[in-house]
Amino acid sequence: MGMVDESTPEAATLAPALLAWYDRHRRLLPWRALPGQPPDAYRVWLSEIMLQQTTVVTVGAYFDRFVTRFPSVHALAAAPLDDVLHAWQGLGYYARARNLHACARAVVAEHAGRFPDTEEGLRALPGIGAYTAGAIAAIAFDRKAAAVDGNVERVIARLAALETPLPEAKPAIRAVVGRLVPEARAGDFAQALMDLGATVCTPRAPKCILCPWQSACRARALGIAEELPRRREKAAKPTRRGTAFWVVRPDGSVLLRKRPESGLLGGMVEVPSTEWREGRASEIEVQKAAPVRASWIKLPGTVRHTFTHFHLELAVLSGEASARAKGEGFWVPLDRLSEQALPTVMKKVVSHALGVARRSRR
Ligand code: SF4
Repeated sequence: MGMVDESTPEAATLAPALLAWYDRHRRLLPWRALPGQPPDAYRVWLSEIMLQQTTVVTVGAYFDRFVTRFPSVHALAAAPLDDVLHAWQGLGYYARARNLHACARAVVAEHAGRFPDTEEGLRALPGIGAYTAGAIAAIAFDRKAAAVDGNVERVIARLAALETPLPEAKPAIRAVVGRLVPEARAGDFAQALMDLGATVCTPRAPKCILCPWQSACRARALGIAEELPRRREKAAKPTRRGTAFWVVRPDGSVLLRKRPESGLLGGMVEVPSTEWREGRASEIEVQKAAPVRASWIKLPGTVRHTFTHFHLELAVLSGEASARAKGEGFWVPLDRLSEQALPTVMKKVVSHALGVARRSRR
């Protein structure tokens, strides 16, 4: 790691070289302030929350719509949670949307609508972890904070030719970044490092020839850039299974219900289903979990969805309920399903059920 020690001459040139590169090649992103404009902490915070586990391309499409709907932290805090969850649809990981709303309320109630300008102050807010606090403190407030995401980990592991696999290498990577962050333009430095990782020091075929750090980079010198960072083998994701109940009443409405507030997809609307777990449930268990009395037909095929920690396979049973059926949940006319805050997996269930119905009518 010698060449990124502060004692070596290269270390002092790394930040200026990167900032000069950033001034020419920075990405234009909808949430980013233009050169010379002050950053808006609300937009910085919002983008960082959206970018957790979601790509820049996906967030780009949502961001403008979201800020048009909720133009300030005050507007977001004043909105009902269901509106926020609805606007969040498609970004996944709804716990983030609930925390987003809780955070906006805390900023308005406890900080008069202004985001705290330190890492510690930010970390005390809902949904803001170490990385996000560092990123906001640096980007919105120019604090000398280290914001180390996956892109940054890759760049630094290569720059210093760190052979330790991730996640064990994280502390060493943070230490290197900590030494490199300059006194001035810490926010630009954080964004420059992210941009370098996203556009030049890419996972495959890094474009070292375009890189402002090419002469200092040890992985490049050793010819091992593309192999880094090393990663510890991940355990395979388990598969959980369940059965969803697609129930239609004679008036054409469908039975939905709200998931419990805490846990996976907390508070989201769903097509009722059995518990999701590994192994197969018996027929009796499935019957017991049915939300209403109906005669059930198993639809052909399954609905598949992958969450962070498991794959899910859902069988779908279709049933017709009587006109007076109540069931556990609420009935929604088919043509108003789109108004519901359905998570992606449930949208898949709906299109599966509707697709089978359509095919069988032909
Ligand atoms: Fe990444 Fe290549 Fe630049 Fe090294 S020289 S930091 S491997 S792009």
